[in-house]
This record gives sequence, structure tokens and C-alpha cells, in this order.
Amino acid sequence: MRLSRYFLPVLKEIPSEAQIVSHRLMLRAGMIKQQAAGIYSWLPMGFKVLRRLEQIVHEEQLRAGHLPMLMPTIQSADLWRESNRYEAYGPEMLRMRDRHDRDLLYGPTNEEMITDIFRAHVSTYKELPLTLYHIQWKFRDEIRPRFGVMRGREFFMKDGYNFDLSKEDALHAYNRHFVSYLRTYERLGLQAIPMRADSGPIGGEDTHEFLVLAETGESKVHYDSKVTEIRLGEREINYDDVDQCKSILEEFTALYARTEETHSEAEFTHIPVERRRSARGIEVGQIFYFGTKYSEPMRAVVQNAEGQTVPVHMGSHGIGVSRLAAAVIEASHDEAGIIWPEAVTPFHCGIVNLKQGDKTTDAACETLYEKITQCGLEPLYDDRVERAGAKFATIDLIGLPWRITVGPRGLKNSVVELTSRRTGKSEECPPEMIPDKLTKIYKRTDDHPSA
Ligand code: ATP
Ligand code: MG
Repeated sequence: MRLSRYFLPVLKEIPSEAQIVSHRLMLRAGMIKQQAAGIYSWLPMGFKVLRRLEQIVHEEQLRAGHLPMLMPTIQSADLWRESNRYEAYGPEMLRMRDRHDRDLLYGPTNEEMITDIFRAHVSTYKELPLTLYHIQWKFRDEIRPRFGVMRGREFFMKDGYNFDLSKEDALHAYNRHFVSYLRTYERLGLQAIPMRADSGPIGGEDTHEFLVLAETGESKVHYDSKVTEIRLGEREINYDDVDQCKSILEEFTALYARTEETHSEAEFTHIPVERRRSARGIEVGQIFYFGTKYSEPMRAVVQNAEGQTVPVHMGSHGIGVSRLAAAVIEASHDEAGIIWPEAVTPFHCGIVNLKQGDKTTDAACETLYEKITQCGLEPLYDDRVERAGAKFATIDLIGLPWRITVGPRGLKNSVVELTSRRTGKSEECPPEMIPDKLTKIYKRTDDHPSA
């Protein structure tokens, strides 16, 4: 993409309404525009990041054997009356009525709808286990929408639902989601710590939230500092391996890590004092096992091997995809702006032309642009007639991990400069070597399934 043809409405002033750094940077970098309280447009660069996040979430769900689909944003109130949640959900639910006076709502979550789909099509245990998910916009009329897309009213969420014959099977689905979520966050360059949590209006027995530690986080958390040392890393995972999934869950939950709602001061004091931490975190996901809470009232039943009709065991599992954009920025930025992890960056590198209009420099930039593109990477070429300082500031603000600086002086010695946004370190190298270097940096170690 050439910057002269792009739509990147960066702001010079710091927007006064934004209280936290991710919100400020998303506005300044021209990623989002507020349309109403807690409702945002995603401008081209913000949209690119959102799509990358969505793609990674998809890939990790597919890897775990979960099936993507798409349910509508608008739901019928009747379904929610069956589960008795229509009244119970309260003012967070956006309710509406169609021209035939039928009650509709903008879905805040999809337990009822997915249960309805299941009961219409599945009647035997032979079709289990089954996990369906979608990534779709949700609406919750939050009392205090704030911090940009961090707490929106409209937000983009991955929500998945497992259907199993027994509690035991459903707990494997729970563990499988647990592991797939850890993988997802690690791929995004984020550390999200699983913490025992409270189930809230979804209901249920078992639940963990995944929290990214940040001072600006809205959740209060308490944990043993040793928990921050555990990583999934590159280990091989077989999602059908019941014992492996279980042992990973046990490994990650053996140490104390709780949200405020489940915190126990008495248990906390058992941790050596120097390892006790009380801090704040951003909730980027949550998983639930809730047994037959929905399948019983909604009659989602199957025949088991003995021919008996039994309600299925279910769980639901959510990742806040739009919130992740903000969480990544909270975790990765500096004074100058965003620092995108390679996995989610909207462009793989920025090309800065120090002397727009100079024949040799323009030609070198064009060649680089072409060669990098041929490698399957997407550069953002700052081809505007602007001061070098302004160009650097833009690339730094929007957080591209790699910058290639091309100027007449370097070209005289047949070199350009490659700079890492994260470390600030630069190296000079011949422009012909750049595509190869970038390809190595972005080389994916594994192939990803597609939705
Ligand atoms: P919170 O406690 O932050 O209100 P929740 O527990 O009500 O969230 P869940 O039902 O667990 O939310 O939804 C799954 C995920 O969706 C959350 O972990 C979070 O990342 C994201 N999410 C929930 N509410 C919002 C919101 N208002 N704006 C953006 N993301 C949200
Ligand atoms: Mg939650």
C-alpha cells in the first residue's frame, strides 16, 4: 500500500476523551472512530488488525477441531424466554420489536440460539462430541462503555459451544478450549494468565478467565508471581489427548491465580509473601462448563448407547476479539506509539523515502516495494512529500515492527537501513537483501488451517 493512496487519518493532538493509552493510540493512529457511546467504526488500518486477530483466533479453533459457522446478530426473544434469561438479563440487553410486534434482541451471547440449532439436528450420541463456534458482533448495553473498544457496547467476540454426552467429555472440551486459548494468546505475543473466576449471568460450575496484566485493566486480580513464568511454548499438542489437555490445565492452574470475585485472603496468605501479587488485568477470554443448564429447559437431548434420552452437557467459551486489539496495545507500546507484534501488524514493514522526487531514491523504493510484495508480504510505502521526521513519527505511531529507510546518501553506498521498532536498532544492508530478511522474520513455523 502506498500511503499517498491510503486512508490513515492520524491525529496530531492527543484526544482528550481517551483515558487509557490504547484508546488514545487507536484514535491517534486512525484505527477507529467513535459513532455513538461504545460503538465504533473500524477504519482501514484498524480493520486490518481486527481481521488479523480474527484469523489467528480461527486458526487456533480449527486446530482444536472446533467448527466455524455464523449465527445472526438479531435473535428472537422467544428463545430466551425458554431458558428464562429474557427477563433475567436485564438492561444490558438491547431489545427491539419488528413491524409484526414480535420481540427481538441484539444478541449479547448465543447459548440459546446454538442450543436451538443443536436440538433441531442432533438426536443421537453418535454425533457427539461437537463444538461449534462463530466470530460475530455482540451488543451489550454496558452501563459504562469506556476505554474505546476495550469496553464497547458493540464488540466482536468469538463464542464457541461444546455439546457432549457426559460431564467427563464436556470437561475434556473445557480443557481443550483452555489449551487452545493459551495458544491463541501466545501467538498474539500476549501473556494471558488463566484465573479461577465467577460465572456471572452465563451460569455454571467451572470457569476460568484469561487476564492480561495491565494497570489500566478493569479486573482486580490476585496471584502467585510464579504463575507468570509458565509458557505453553512450542510443545506439540494433540487436542484429542484427554490426559495431555488435562495436564496442561493442571500445570497452569496449580498456582494461586484468582479474580476478585473468587479471591480468598486465607488461601492467599499460604503463598510466600514475596510472591504475593495483587494487581489489575484485562479480561481477554473466559471459558465455562455449565452442564445441562440450557439443555434441560430447552430439551437439547440425545439418545445414549443404552437407548435412554439424556440432556447434553455443554460449555461456552469466549474471546473478546475487538478487545484484544486494545489489549495488545496496552501490552506493547512506548512514548512514540504502538509496537505491533509481528503476528498482528497491519503491514509487515514501512518503507520511508527520505527524498521523494529524487529519481534514484524513488526507483529504489519502487523496487523494494515490488520485491517485498512478491514475497507475500505487505509493505506500507510512505511516498508522501513530507519531512523525514514526520514520516518516521507516523511509522512509529502506527507501530509497524520494521522500517526500511531509503535515502540518496545510503544508496550511494548501495545500502538502505532496516530498523526494528521494538529495539530501535538499525542495520545497514543492500536493498536486495531486505525481502529475504523480512521473509525470514515473518516465516511461519507451521501451516495454519483455514476457516
Ligand atoms: P466483562 O467482565 O469484561 O464485562 P464478561 O465476563 O461479561 O466481560 P464474557 O461473557 O465472558 O464477558 O465474554 C467473553 C469475552 O468478550 C470477555 O472475556 C471479553 O474479552 C469480551 N467482552 C465482554 N464484554 C465486552 C465489552 N463490553 N467490550 C469488549 N469486549 C467485551
Ligand atoms: Mg467474562
